[in-house]
Amino acid sequence: MRKLIRSIIIIALIIPIVIVVMHGQEISGSLDRLTTTSNQAQQQEDRPTTPVEKPKQEEPVKKEPKPEKVEKPSKPEVSKPKVIVIDPGHQRYADFRLEKVGKGSDEWKPMMQGSTYGIVTGQAEHQLTLDVANKLKKQLIQKGYKVKLTRTENVIAMSTKQRADFAHKNKADLYIQLHADGRSNAQANGMYIVVPSEDNKYTKKIHKESRELANTVINTAKDSKQDVYKKGIVTSANLPALNWSKMPTVLIELGYLNNPKDDRRLATSKYQNKLVENISSGIENYIKK
Ligand SMILES: [Zn+2]
Repeated sequence: MRKLIRSIIIIALIIPIVIVVMHGQEISGSLDRLTTTSNQAQQQEDRPTTPVEKPKQEEPVKKEPKPEKVEKPSKPEVSKPKVIVIDPGHQRYADFRLEKVGKGSDEWKPMMQGSTYGIVTGQAEHQLTLDVANKLKKQLIQKGYKVKLTRTENVIAMSTKQRADFAHKNKADLYIQLHADGRSNAQANGMYIVVPSEDNKYTKKIHKESRELANTVINTAKDSKQDVYKKGIVTSANLPALNWSKMPTVLIELGYLNNPKDDRRLATSKYQNKLVENISSGIENYIKK
């Protein structure tokens, strides 16, 4: 009996061990299978797959040639365009009311002197200056500047001081005044420029730049060899047209209306254009300096 019980106990102990061992073999077998499957998968991956249709070789894209840098039209090298006010000298009727010749002055002169007239053609200075001013304006605008005229008609009443004030109000960088001489030496001819003298007490701040502007315009005319320049520069210590200006200013005498040669050529569009070409280039050269 005892033997029987012992045998049963031994069997009872052995059975679970056998089960565990067998089970272990099963697990190990499964692992083997798993490894095999994984190897097969690997092999499958290595196998060349069904050839995928190759994408058609694309035509090589022609690269557009880079556009060459386009040179910008020559413009003054400033962010804001320079403002130029042009005063076509005089008006249809002289104005004999008086105004001071400069700030704080005790001296008075007519608000607007009368025009001079061509000795041969009879052309009026105020019409000539207006015609040339319009042409000059067009040229300077083409060069990239902002341009305003003090007047656009002849029948108007605008004093010397009011014209300078117009330039101030428009924040002009340069104030260009156009005239034609009819009272000086009738033997003389050609353009000349009047600027404030060094001892002009009203123009201490602008005489140097005004002189520089005049120099550049005259030199430009000289270089062009177009026979528009003769006399050069004249200075004035007390000319109201210059005295009232707060910005660099020049008074350009386009020629002599009392000289037959000048009078005749000043009446032609061709000569006016020549003058305008020289003056506008001179102004441009001054600004670009
Ligand atoms: Zn004049």
